[in-house]
Amino acid sequence: MKKLMNAIVKPTAGPGLELRQVPVPVPGPGEVLIKVHKTAICGTDVHIYNWDPWAVQHIKPPMTIGHEYVGEIAQLGPGVKDFTVGQLVSGEGHLTCGHCRNCLNGDIQWCKDTVSVGVDRDGAFAEYVCIPATNLVAVDESLPEDVVAFFDAFGNAAHTALMWNLVGEDVLITGAGPIGMIAAGICRHAGARRVVITDTNDYRLDLARKMGADRAVNITRDDLRQVMKELHIMEGFDVGLEMSGNGAALKQMFTVMRNGGCISLLGISNVPVDIDMNEIIGRGLRLQGIYGRKMDNWHQMSYMVQGGLDLTPIITHRFHYTDFEKGFAAMNSGMSGKVVLDWTQE
Ligand SMILES: [Zn+2]
Ligand SMILES: [Zn+2]
Repeated sequence: MKKLMNAIVKPTAGPGLELRQVPVPVPGPGEVLIKVHKTAICGTDVHIYNWDPWAVQHIKPPMTIGHEYVGEIAQLGPGVKDFTVGQLVSGEGHLTCGHCRNCLNGDIQWCKDTVSVGVDRDGAFAEYVCIPATNLVAVDESLPEDVVAFFDAFGNAAHTALMWNLVGEDVLITGAGPIGMIAAGICRHAGARRVVITDTNDYRLDLARKMGADRAVNITRDDLRQVMKELHIMEGFDVGLEMSGNGAALKQMFTVMRNGGCISLLGISNVPVDIDMNEIIGRGLRLQGIYGRKMDNWHQMSYMVQGGLDLTPIITHRFHYTDFEKGFAAMNSGMSGKVVLDWTQE
């Protein structure tokens, strides 16, 4: 008889999620079974919960969702070496082909055949999750598990922010969601001169301020150019991190960058955005699209936390996994940072 476990499942095509009993996965050759300790809710999970057009296109129910987690190795599949049962781990959520041009070059974030945990295959909002050993990330026991639970999102922020030199630079972040808040902390930690973040949500701007943003600007009220003047940002921002997926925010960013400024784009837009090509060309702006994380970002994240980067201010809610509905309600309210679910207690 198959062993059963609790899992948060998208049962059918439509809004909502359900706590269900599903079989504990059995690790095949090269795979590892992880006993989940903590998980965090990502914006992607909220899309899936709400069953928006993105979810309709990408999710095939029934399936277990979730991709931000920390846990311990419960079982090694045949042939897995270099890891031990009981070891603390997280996992890179993008399973890559390993043999396309980008994979061979170490740029796994650009693999041509990516499969995502909790989107394309069963995820981590369960008592156990199974992934290939190649995607395992060993976690130092000194790191707080509540924070490691959202290293996946931290990795998006690190990938976006660390694309450019930040030391002594003035940085504009558009979008104060959890990834924007984390990016503010990274830029501060990495030695930026000024960190300015924009959004329309005062609750989230306040959390970004706690993470080290010099100014958290509500663009419905405040004048960004006036803020720049007050901060002595004379020729424009050196680095721009677009994390809102909002076309108007991106267009505003173009106008306040210095000539030759560097922009990374993480926020995904639901609608086409028309941009002024001539502004990018004439002002020599450098643009970089960001997807996922580099494996090296995992190391940088651990070391930044050990070096003093404190991400605990953005954890606003903690629930037992059976209270997942409360977690999704908090995320949908907009009045939240990261929501962490505990899977360690019965
Ligand atoms: Zn995520
Ligand atoms: Zn590949």
